[in-house]
Amino acid sequence: MSTHNYKAASQGTTHKTLYSEPIKIPGFIWFYGLWFCLALFSTLLEHSIISTRAVLFLLGGIVTTNFFFLSAAYTEKENNGPSRLLMNYQIFMGAVWTSAYLYFSSGAGDLVLGMYMTVLMFAVFHLDIRTLLKLGLATLSSYLLIMGIKFVSAPATVEPLQDSVRFMVLVAITAWIYIFARRLQDLRFELQFRNEELQNMVARITRIAEEDPLTKSYNRRYIMDILARERSRSDRSGHTFSLLLFDLDHFKRINDRYGHVVGDQILSDFANCVKKELRGMDSINTTEHQRSFGRYGGEEFIAVLSGTDLSGGHRCAERIREIIANQNFRDRYTITTSVGVAEYKQGESVPQLLTRADQALYKAKREGRNLVRCNKEPIEKYSGTKPYLRILK
Ligand code: GH3
Ligand code: MG
Ligand code: MG
Repeated sequence: MSTHNYKAASQGTTHKTLYSEPIKIPGFIWFYGLWFCLALFSTLLEHSIISTRAVLFLLGGIVTTNFFFLSAAYTEKENNGPSRLLMNYQIFMGAVWTSAYLYFSSGAGDLVLGMYMTVLMFAVFHLDIRTLLKLGLATLSSYLLIMGIKFVSAPATVEPLQDSVRFMVLVAITAWIYIFARRLQDLRFELQFRNEELQNMVARITRIAEEDPLTKSYNRRYIMDILARERSRSDRSGHTFSLLLFDLDHFKRINDRYGHVVGDQILSDFANCVKKELRGMDSINTTEHQRSFGRYGGEEFIAVLSGTDLSGGHRCAERIREIIANQNFRDRYTITTSVGVAEYKQGESVPQLLTRADQALYKAKREGRNLVRCNKEPIEKYSGTKPYLRILK
């Protein structure tokens, strides 16, 4: 992606509507100016000769074609930048006008060499290797053709020996630029490859940092980050959110009866089932409220329901509890889950919120398990920031 596109991408839609990207004068326009000054200087010093009519024709032609291609390129915008194809035609036009200058002038061979070289150097950075080769061959052929025409029509304007040497220099320059461009293309491919590798690596590291390897749901660290983010968003916007704390009932017995491997599979299936349910609820719910689900530790899980109040959280938890209770995991195992629900109260800390959800969960366990219980106790009742510790028999 070009710098231009990076800028456009980072600006986002809001900025795009506020500021329109200023049209930058492309580099080659400056080079037209530079070579024009050098050609003028050479003419004034009588090092080269060109008629006023030819100068006017060249100037008119250059201005017209540049204006045409530039306005067309900016009209045919692609990816927020000028059309690349049309900008590339510009490079070919540089070679055309250099050839025209060669035709109309005499004694300007050195200048022409420099002009061709500038055009080819621009091409290295903008054209693909095949188009660059075509441009190089076209440049060499037009040089030969024009010198041939001039040799026949006005032999006095040609210096056969010097012009032959110049042609050989032009061949050498073109060949060198071609080799350079190939190397640059290899480097570009390598860079692209490394970039993709790096992106994959970042994606992997991000996944490792966020994911619980067994259940493929968010891990504890990430779910705590989500809670912290939800909390500050809620404090800013006033929108509430709810927390669901799940604890599988008598899970130790599952392990004791069927072994830890089966226990692991059930944990993973449980997480998949809840994630699917939460996603399903999203598609019904037309609001943009997010539902994040992660493993808090062991056989305890947390769901964070943004934009959802206590009654919404209770409904959601009840639905999941019922689905889990009626599910046959691996076609043969049944489990149940108890759920504690708490709605965030403005100003409380994440541990305080977790403590309230934990107390609700404790209530569900105490009252017989496979139940959903809510906690709407005011924050003042809880002092300290440490989660409440529950001991169950
Ligand atoms: P209850 O919550 O209903 O009071 O009973 P429980 O048996 O689930 O209670 P407790 O929290 O004391 O035990 C949790 C058990 O979960 C203990 C442990 O064997 C099991 N467990 C925790 N993490 C894993 C895990 O990653 N894999 C497996 N297979 N079991 C786990
Ligand atoms: Mg537990
Ligand atoms: Mg348990």
